[in-house]
Amino acid sequence: MKEIKTILSKSKVKSGFNCSKALYLKIFNPHIAFVPSQFDQRLLQHGKTVGEAARKLFPDGILVEELSRTEAIAKTKALLQKGTKILFEPAFEFENLLCRVDILKMTDDQKWDLIEVKATTYNKPEKHDVEDYILDISIQTWILKNLGIPINKSYLMHLNSDHIHPDHGDLFKLEDFTDQISDSMSSIPERLEQLLKSLKNTAPPEVPISRKCDKPHECPFKGLCWEHVPEISIFNIPNSRKKWDLYENGYLDISSVDKDDFKAITQKRMIEVSQSGQRFVDATRIAGLLQKWEYPLAFLDFESIDSAIPKYNNTRPYQHIPFQFSCHISNQKKLSHHEYLHDNSSDPREKFISALLACIPKQGTIVVYFKTYEATRLKELARDFPQHAAALLQIENRLEDLLEVVKETVYDINFKGSFSIKSVAPALLGQEASYENLDIQDGTEAMVAFERLTDEKTAQEDKLSLKQQMLEYCCQDTLLMVKLYEWLRNQCS
Ligand code: SF4
Repeated sequence: MKEIKTILSKSKVKSGFNCSKALYLKIFNPHIAFVPSQFDQRLLQHGKTVGEAARKLFPDGILVEELSRTEAIAKTKALLQKGTKILFEPAFEFENLLCRVDILKMTDDQKWDLIEVKATTYNKPEKHDVEDYILDISIQTWILKNLGIPINKSYLMHLNSDHIHPDHGDLFKLEDFTDQISDSMSSIPERLEQLLKSLKNTAPPEVPISRKCDKPHECPFKGLCWEHVPEISIFNIPNSRKKWDLYENGYLDISSVDKDDFKAITQKRMIEVSQSGQRFVDATRIAGLLQKWEYPLAFLDFESIDSAIPKYNNTRPYQHIPFQFSCHISNQKKLSHHEYLHDNSSDPREKFISALLACIPKQGTIVVYFKTYEATRLKELARDFPQHAAALLQIENRLEDLLEVVKETVYDINFKGSFSIKSVAPALLGQEASYENLDIQDGTEAMVAFERLTDEKTAQEDKLSLKQQMLEYCCQDTLLMVKLYEWLRNQCS
């Protein structure tokens, strides 16, 4: 019987080179992969939008639209034979590998520049990301070279973080990867052979969990491979670089590690509480930290959206644009609630600033949860709207971080190593402080809801329900901050 040839797309090979088990499961057990989160789906959408924007730089380019492998290859051949000089998404196959090249452009000396477009600003890229780009570009270049297509240069095209919409600085930049990919290219035949061999087995290869399960992307098969990892384990120790060394040396259970092997007090405390089961509360320190806070207390939370390709004037790639806030104001006797939600496709910032300046009291402490986020948004707004800079920076100057107070003074086993309000609030205030019953449960879902709310194509009744859900979510954040503050006060009264 004739053996069926396994054709692997570039993304499958990348996944297989990272972990052969992941590729095996993708091919033979795809149903056990977890469904991509809204965060992952947004990343995919960014990739699509950025790819389309990059093509606009080459008005003479021809897109190979065909999705089927054979049709796309045939169309690519026909376009090359016709002498087409710029192709988008041409398809090439060599041996068992298939790739679609983002942009292929002929040079003056009849060679080709291969351009891989990524929706990144490439600002201080992490090592694993650069390795991922190298692998990506080397696979494509290897296929084309083996097909006898002369390659001049292989590039990574990425967003320019200095670009300001609409026309300050180029939107894209090129990085020449030609030299960086040579080692990776020469290792492809051997790696590919091993990979194809592993696919002939009747069971997935045995691969231990490792750093690769999370980098460069979270593997969709963690549900299967991480089944043996308990809910609270060494992997919950906050900011621990040591966790993989520990795992490789046989540690997994939190009770088996020695807190004295860790430097940070939050790590020591987490280990101690997880071992004893006793909640840690430092009432004296809570009192010391909170005594500096002055009434009226304004509990403030922002929601913002980032677009790979900037939408509004005077904004940059991935700049966070605030579109909503919730603010609970407590003067000790009374609690009032204020909010703003931008609900149309115009730039939200002017109206957001006006509503914010009208709501925040002139005096008193402004309490946020994870200060860096709100502080950065306020500084960006002050930079982009200098007429409001003094007032915005005055607000920024008055911010206090509830997260830091919790981090310094409390640890409960149910935090599970996380100080996010979504972990801390239910652990200290009970299940009614959970986000589980809300339609929107995190910042990414709020971004997606905002995109739908401001999309003209969304039906009016859907917009009304989205608005309601978004207001509920943001209000929950600040209301829980009020309750957490009261909880902390009660510990030292
Ligand atoms: S979870 Fe880790 S070990 Fe399992 S398939 Fe994915 S990368 Fe491989």
